[in-house]
Amino acid sequence: MTFEEKKERLKEIYKAFDREAVEFKKSAMCKPGCAYCCIHFGSVDITTLEGLIIRDRVNSFAKPLKKRIKKKIAQNKKLREKGKVAQCPFLKEDKTCRIYDIRPFSCRQLYSLRECDGRGPTVHRQAVNLAEKTVQRLQRLDSTGYSGHISFIIHLLEKQEFRDFYLAGGFNPAQIMGFGKTHDIIINGKGI
Ligand code: SF4
Repeated sequence: MTFEEKKERLKEIYKAFDREAVEFKKSAMCKPGCAYCCIHFGSVDITTLEGLIIRDRVNSFAKPLKKRIKKKIAQNKKLREKGKVAQCPFLKEDKTCRIYDIRPFSCRQLYSLRECDGRGPTVHRQAVNLAEKTVQRLQRLDSTGYSGHISFIIHLLEKQEFRDFYLAGGFNPAQIMGFGKTHDIIINGKGI
């Protein structure tokens, strides 16, 4: 499967989750402008395939915005490396998402049955199970890739050597072993 085909398949997986989770989300308290998850969670994990799509979007921004977002991603990475919660680099000042249409699955799966208010989101157990299965599907789709925090995966994709190898369908976890171990990077193909 080419990367373009994988990107289309990714959208189908997102849509399938939306269809299956619709009943659960009906009772969600979430509303535009509430960015609790984007600010306080700090654990936006993505696959390399999702990272590729996000990186392409960042590169399509006008130069000043691109520079600002890249700086935010680098700051986000440093905070995460220190074990601190870091606000998502894609959250805008009006508390909406700059990449909403292509936001990763980590964000799509979240909702809460009550206002988070310092406690974090409350979700149905069945929705958690469904999300776990969806993550497995995403990892199978991206079987030559990796998963991890958004800033770490984008950092990997910024390295041309890694990106070229990955885009050519190469799979060699030893290539990222040092970074992977220190940054809790998951090898997507490991559990397949
Ligand atoms: S990508 Fe968008 S929805 Fe997801 S955490 Fe960042 S700002 Fe929030």
